[in-house]
Amino acid sequence: MPSIEEYIPIVGESTIYDLRLITERLKGKVIQHVNSTAVGGGVAEILNRMVPLCKELGADVRWEVIKGGEQFFEVTKKFHNVLHGRREEITQNDFDVFMETSEKNINEANIYGDIIFIHDPQPVALIKKKKENKWIWRCHIDVSNPDQTVWQFLVNFIEQYDSAVFSAPSFSRRLPVKQFMIPPSIDPLSDKNKELPQETIDKILNKYSIVKDKPIITQISRFDRLKDPVGVIDAYLQVKRYVDCQLILAGGGATDDPEGPKVFEEVQELAKKDKDIHILLLPHNDIEVNALQRASTIIIQKSLREGFGLTVAEALWKGKPVVASNVGGIPLQIKHRYSGLLCHSIQGASFALKQLLNSPEYAKKLGQNGREHIKNNFLITRHLRDHMLLFLSLYHKEDIVYL
Ligand code: UDP
Repeated sequence: MPSIEEYIPIVGESTIYDLRLITERLKGKVIQHVNSTAVGGGVAEILNRMVPLCKELGADVRWEVIKGGEQFFEVTKKFHNVLHGRREEITQNDFDVFMETSEKNINEANIYGDIIFIHDPQPVALIKKKKENKWIWRCHIDVSNPDQTVWQFLVNFIEQYDSAVFSAPSFSRRLPVKQFMIPPSIDPLSDKNKELPQETIDKILNKYSIVKDKPIITQISRFDRLKDPVGVIDAYLQVKRYVDCQLILAGGGATDDPEGPKVFEEVQELAKKDKDIHILLLPHNDIEVNALQRASTIIIQKSLREGFGLTVAEALWKGKPVVASNVGGIPLQIKHRYSGLLCHSIQGASFALKQLLNSPEYAKKLGQNGREHIKNNFLITRHLRDHMLLFLSLYHKEDIVYL
């Protein structure tokens, strides 16, 4: 695990100095993060890096994962989908299942921090354990167009928090609590994002029998309908009529996402249409994800809905040209035709992919601009700073706090 000093060559000495100063002010406070999975998905990805770095800076930060069975995670996945605006039937039984597991967690979870940082809807009901301490609800979902029944159900809990945090201004909702805008981040020195020797990249391509004889288009994502793997295959097949290339759709699962295996099977079936489509079920292995991203000519992220889309930041950081849907937090990362290409449809995606395959110089420039944009805005050091300032602000009396 790299130490905080190792970030100096990337972000400069003053950034790290500031972080140490701010953290000093939090001495004596215990900060507890709570989410629903230790592996898989963006939240676990962030906490796995954020928690040890905070500790190294001197903050007393802990991380708890709530418990839940299959039924609970089926319900919370449904909540996730409808909060993102997808239509699915939600029944009273779903709310009962949610509350039953929540009650168990309320009784069993060991919550003792001064600042409790709750991630996403799954653990939201833990607020019932609120005492004199400060509670933050962190929303990683694009809730700009949520199902109203589920949203109102959640608001009953959220309004008991001290603050809420959203990734983008457009996600914020009318709420009777203070709101902050903090976009997520990537860690440039993690196994997922650090530089890799070419031999490592080649070895991993070899492992998956991928030959570099033609351009590689890749989407790394959980097998989730909202990531639109079927749309990616359609866009690729349209491109393939004009430019010889190959497609990698790679992803693993998350313990709080029970839909994965079914979507994976469907996608595997569709992939039989073309021998150059590689569907990879990845083990949780950051070096492999890193290598596949680095081996790619273009990264695609054709999500139908997205919270932030860490995979986009990861690809841009590697200087890759990216084609991604104009949804959720993706437009924060991609300024169209400057740091990548945004698309709104399968046709749009295939058009953008063709354009980049046919103009390598333009593709390279977009990748370079993308890397710079991520460096300036979406690295973990900025995120750490925002968190520390947010924690400090909880103890301020003023109504307005500028981050
Ligand atoms: N990821 C991974 N292995 C996989 C699929 C995804 O490590 O098989 C990582 C991916 O690199 C990214 C995170 O999981 O860091 C996904 O975050 P994102 O915001 O893109 O989507 P989410 O899964 O949270 O909807």
